[in-house]
Amino acid sequence: MSSDRFDLAVVGAGLNGSLLALAAGSAGLRTVLIDRVPLRSLTEAGFDGRTTAIAYTSQRLFAALGVWDDIAGVAEPIRDIRISDAGHDGRASPLFLHFDHREATPDSRDPAPMGWIVENRFLRAALLKRLADCSQVELVAPDEVVETARDLDRAELTLKSGRRLPARLVASAEGRFGSMREDAGIGARKWSYGQTAIVLVAHHERPHRGVAQEKFLPGGPFAILPMTDGPVREGMAGEHRSSIVWTERADLARRLLELDPPRFAAEFARRFGDHLGPVEPVGPRWSHPLGLVHADRYVDTRLVLVGDAAHGIHPIAGQGYNLGVRDIAALVEVLADAKHLGLDIGAADTLERYAQWRRADNFAMVAATDLLNRLFSNDIKPLRLVRGLGLATVNRVPALRRFFVRHAMGMVGDLPKLIRGERP
Ligand SMILES: Cc1cc2nc3c(=O)[nH]c(=O)nc-3n(C[C@H](O)[C@H](O)[C@H](O)COP(=O)(O)OP(=O)(O)OC[C@H]3O[C@@H](n4cnc5c(N)ncnc54)[C@H](O)[C@@H]3O)c2cc1C
Repeated sequence: MSSDRFDLAVVGAGLNGSLLALAAGSAGLRTVLIDRVPLRSLTEAGFDGRTTAIAYTSQRLFAALGVWDDIAGVAEPIRDIRISDAGHDGRASPLFLHFDHREATPDSRDPAPMGWIVENRFLRAALLKRLADCSQVELVAPDEVVETARDLDRAELTLKSGRRLPARLVASAEGRFGSMREDAGIGARKWSYGQTAIVLVAHHERPHRGVAQEKFLPGGPFAILPMTDGPVREGMAGEHRSSIVWTERADLARRLLELDPPRFAAEFARRFGDHLGPVEPVGPRWSHPLGLVHADRYVDTRLVLVGDAAHGIHPIAGQGYNLGVRDIAALVEVLADAKHLGLDIGAADTLERYAQWRRADNFAMVAATDLLNRLFSNDIKPLRLVRGLGLATVNRVPALRRFFVRHAMGMVGDLPKLIRGERP
């Protein structure tokens, strides 16, 4: 590919940037994708130990782009979600909320799962594999954007290597720690939750049966997410696996992470409970400081923000990446429409259409996850009573349960074509 002007320069090849480059390239936009990290390292087991809950509608986009074939075999369907409050002893309250995937499409004989749990390394590998075959996308890594020039007519990135990349539009998919947003003078609401997510894999004796569990402990939510079975290994509790996102106050998390394996396992097992038989943490422990960032604007002159660069949220509802997927679907549709009409894809009115489309959905999820975390991450007695009653009430009202299930599946609002499983 010659280095003439690109339609789109995507900065950051994380889950959002690589998906955006693929979707844009597949829609016929000449795209360049840049990351400071060598792309191969993104898929190594040591790079990212997280799993992602891919919502039902995000899966449709992956399928439309031909990526799901490489993911399906390593994706575990989420059939049910069970939410309960719990005290310091990890014991779940008898008041709970249970979502069943059959409620979203009650008339269907073959109801779809609410989503799938996939290891991030497999998601990254599937995206990069597909990108390598996409003739419209050039991959530039490792390299780093050191300067961005943008005006009404053009944009140009200067890389650390000295290479210059002219483009009609720059997309920052730099994640929550990127610099382009601030350099563009775009403010943000942001704060730290003073919490850390400890991420690990647990083996347990009994199968999870596709049930994702969220227990609200005083330090924060403790999520048990169903994974595909792993190989049985000598001395392990069993082949059934779950991915854990264990939120704690940051100072306590630091001390927990320093514990030796038997003491850590005991602390872990106390919170996990015994509903799946004996349980054992396996492999490395990971930690992620938790905070919120929501950009005041998603666009500037020839610049768009997507994914965590626009909105980084608490993982309490497993929706952060799903918001990014919807950003990407909307952005690529808007850009493809402009290109088909022979319009400038970096023009302000094109970008504004994207910003308008995404603002309400993102804002609702930012606010909901923030509120949920504040409401549940404490041990205040009256609040515990109220939230227990709240969970039990929603549990008794089918229409309310259906409302939440459809939101978790991403089935509400004005859905872009890719999210409906169609090509833009
Ligand atoms: C514990 C945890 C669990 C989660 N679970 C879920 C879940 O179940 N479901 C869900 O939907 N979401 C989940 N999320 C959220 C999800 O992980 C994020 O939304 C997503 O990974 C963000 O991806 P990104 O590509 O926007 O950013 P990042 O992953 O941060 O990637 C940014 C990339 O940009 C590169 N970069 C930055 N600046 C430059 C530069 N100047 N030049 C070149 N390269 C640059 C970086 O090297 C990096 O590779 C979870 C998050 C956490 C913390």
